[in-house]
Amino acid sequence: MAADHPEVSLVVPCHNEAGNLSALYERVLAVMEQTGKSWELVCVNDGSKDDTLDHLLALRCKDPRVVVIDLSRNFGKEAALTAGLDHAQGDCAIPLDADLQDPPELIPELLTKWQEGYDVVNAVRLSRKGESWSKRASAHAFYRFINWMSDTPIPNDTGDFRLLSRPVLEALSKLPERRRFMKGLFAWVGFRTVSVYYHREPRLSGTTTWNYWKLWNFAVEGITSFSQVPLQLAAYLGFIVSLLAFLYAAYLIVETIVYGNPVKGYPSLMVTMLFLGGVQLMALGIIGEYLGRIYEESKRRPVYLVRSIWHSREHAKKLLLNRGDKM
Ligand code: UDP
Ligand code: MG
Repeated sequence: MAADHPEVSLVVPCHNEAGNLSALYERVLAVMEQTGKSWELVCVNDGSKDDTLDHLLALRCKDPRVVVIDLSRNFGKEAALTAGLDHAQGDCAIPLDADLQDPPELIPELLTKWQEGYDVVNAVRLSRKGESWSKRASAHAFYRFINWMSDTPIPNDTGDFRLLSRPVLEALSKLPERRRFMKGLFAWVGFRTVSVYYHREPRLSGTTTWNYWKLWNFAVEGITSFSQVPLQLAAYLGFIVSLLAFLYAAYLIVETIVYGNPVKGYPSLMVTMLFLGGVQLMALGIIGEYLGRIYEESKRRPVYLVRSIWHSREHAKKLLLNRGDKM
């Protein structure tokens, strides 16, 4: 067994997950003991407002295999996951949700595939328990739509729960983009990929921070990061509208020649104007989405900022005491 680094890194982004962490640790512990591999649990505290950090530090005191990365504020799940993967030391890494929606019991299956020589092992959801019909339907539609639009095939119904080998982690860390749609990036890097299947469980405790507005923005992020079809769509739509306008003009000319022209242009004028105005605004909006992203990327700000990292057991204990003193 390698001495200085673990074989498996489990990476967990945590945002207000105080109620789930001890259950997560217990289940991970049970599963990892079974596999006989050396491991670490990299937990990223993504600006939690509850006492997630204290729970993480307590776990860390109990078990030095728990690594805690505290971000300077809430950067969002994609950034938190990036932070965790950047700091993972293992020969492979497995991102997990803290709410136990991704069952740790699937990990041995992922590891088996890895040992067979695969670099990426996707965990595909067969069902999503405890999620509303509308969320399941919108997720279903999202995966199909983005695959239709994007040149990078993004596996259907696959979240961030998957196994990534060290070469994949190296490749991911080389991707320079600031705005990280992880599912797309995981797919973009390629490598030998295989899927295993599981049933997604409901959240253990707490509530999801993803409302429909956030999910919509996430979908727009995914589409604009991995497809230029919307830009082309704007151009095609413009072309079709112009063509229709041209045909309509021809019709008007013929009508005028044949029947003369009693003044009655108002409705057609309004319809044409509003329609064209709408199409133009839409096209501008789409261009704006991409432009905004170019602007974001051009600022070259870091994806996340780390407040502190807990490596050693003593260090974690000290900080826990300090925090206790202050409270
Ligand atoms: N999460 C995070 N930062 C955020 C929001 C969520 O790190 O700003 C974490 C959260 O703690 C959980 C995972 O991302 O471990 C998935 O979040 P959630 O369960 O809310 O999403 P859902 O499962 O509903 O898609
Ligand atoms: Mg969840």
